[in-house]
Amino acid sequence: MQKLAGRGDEVVAGSFDLVIVGAGFAGLYMLHLARRMGFSAVVLEAAPGVGGTWFWNRYPGARCDVESMQYSYSFSEELQQEWHWSERYASQPEILAYANYVAWKFDLFCDIEFNTRVLAAAFQEDDCRWVVSTDQGMRYRAKWCVMATGCLSAAQIPSIPGLDSFQGPVYHTGSWPHEPVSLAGQSVGVIGTGSSGIQVIPEIAAQAGHLYVFQRTPNYSVPARNRPMDAEYESSWKAEYAQRRKKARAMSAGLLWDQGDKSALAVSPEERLQEYERRWAAGGTGIMAAYSDLLQNADANETVAEFVRGKIRNVVERSEVAELLVPVDYPIGAKRTCADTKYFETFNRENVTLVDHRASPIREMSSNGITAGSEFFRLDSLVLATGFDAMTGAISKIDIVGRRGLNLKEKWLNGPNTLLGLMTAGFPNLFIVTGPGSPSVLTNMIPSIEDNVQWIADCISHISEEGADFIEATGPAEETWMGEVRRAAEGTLFVQAKSWYLGVNVPGKPAVFMPYAGGMPAYQRICEEVAADGYRGFAIGTR
Ligand SMILES: Cc1cc2nc3c(=O)[nH]c(=O)nc-3n(C[C@H](O)[C@H](O)[C@H](O)COP(=O)(O)OP(=O)(O)OC[C@H]3O[C@@H](n4cnc5c(N)ncnc54)[C@H](O)[C@@H]3O)c2cc1C
Repeated sequence: MQKLAGRGDEVVAGSFDLVIVGAGFAGLYMLHLARRMGFSAVVLEAAPGVGGTWFWNRYPGARCDVESMQYSYSFSEELQQEWHWSERYASQPEILAYANYVAWKFDLFCDIEFNTRVLAAAFQEDDCRWVVSTDQGMRYRAKWCVMATGCLSAAQIPSIPGLDSFQGPVYHTGSWPHEPVSLAGQSVGVIGTGSSGIQVIPEIAAQAGHLYVFQRTPNYSVPARNRPMDAEYESSWKAEYAQRRKKARAMSAGLLWDQGDKSALAVSPEERLQEYERRWAAGGTGIMAAYSDLLQNADANETVAEFVRGKIRNVVERSEVAELLVPVDYPIGAKRTCADTKYFETFNRENVTLVDHRASPIREMSSNGITAGSEFFRLDSLVLATGFDAMTGAISKIDIVGRRGLNLKEKWLNGPNTLLGLMTAGFPNLFIVTGPGSPSVLTNMIPSIEDNVQWIADCISHISEEGADFIEATGPAEETWMGEVRRAAEGTLFVQAKSWYLGVNVPGKPAVFMPYAGGMPAYQRICEEVAADGYRGFAIGTR
């Protein structure tokens, strides 16, 4: 890296066509495409390694809930043929190994600055360049700035009075230590029963002396039925990967699964039960694809919700505990449906206590434990499975200043506004991968990432060929798109749960449904049409 003299204490690290922030699956692919198109690029990454989500989330039990054969890049036939996944649902270490393999295979490491957190990015109107500053005292100049900072990368720490006074270790699942953590024989508290909590709780219960699970909202979860990869299944995918990936992209969630085309209400209760039992036995979240209207029609949804509630009641032996674990006040699927391994069974263990902190709110922590309601629980260690400031958290932590001093955090004070989730008005040449206003977290993320990154690369290429200096979302087009995002959500049951899709897990965050719920095929079609129509809704110009 070339170091030039800079202003003040900062050193100018160099000028590039692109600065990419983040070395998860989005940043890695962006770098690869930029290079292939002949652009110079640097990736700035806060972590000391690649992998993003899979670098940070090292808690026991961490794994994906999209089948491995689909939770992987499709851009290289050679890569998808040569990589072997050892399980139906890959574990965190295996996905991290995959990310490292990709970075090695495509020779990406040399253009990544690790241990480098981006603190600020400012657009300079005179030369249409972004100046990106880091915690290493470096400044990078680039025409294009791509935020590949991740939708679930800013850990949400609850504000519990006295948390700092707790003498034992506190772990957040989203920044788990790299050294092995032993909780053997300890009294452990876990706060949170979302996707991460549901994965980590059975693992901790198996080693802790006693585990207290602090639950605010019970979650629907289905058995993953994870197992070693079946060789025939793997071969069948590899034999027709291209066709299957294409079919997957034609599905709303970007996932190839057995999507029923009938309404749940159009079949007899007996037929429905048989279908739900079949999918329950198969494992995974495919039960939500049993009928066409499970996420649109409340009555249809109630049929599958009630089926899952029955399963929870069957598994959990103590009825008063089962009732606490059964979600009743929101539709299934309105929050991310979890896939678990013996989660509900864990509550039959003698060393596990479920604490309903909706009824007995967590009041404070002290040096050796936590008080919820009027009860004190002595703890040696605390695990926060409290999720993320989703979709906007990582970007908002960066001080991003666009045209005429416009600050992105201030612009998004009442909720994020974007055009297609890809750009936001007032911030020329700044792209976001799977940003708010794109389907992102409602889909299998890797294809969504690939499609966004490809669109950005094509756009940069087009603007460069045109000899233009900038592209920018226009205000009216952005407003129209945000209306579309609201309309798409209104037609679904997603808005009926207090979920991180709406940001309500973060105190003070405006309750706005952030992802586009119109499905991946509709979104992709719109993105393609916009580009084909000369980037309709975007302003392209010279300085
Ligand atoms: C526990 C867990 C399980 C998941 N399971 C699934 C699943 O089964 N299926 C699915 O589709 N998706 C899943 N996801 C979503 C997952 O985040 C995406 O699938 C995908 O990994 C996102 O890749 P990314 O590159 O966009 O973001 P990330 O992987 O989050 O990477 C973003 C990177 O940006 C870096 N960064 C952020 N801010 C800065 C800054 N200011 N300066 C420098 N670097 C910065 C971060 O350190 C991080 O490395 C899961 C997420 C979690 C947390």
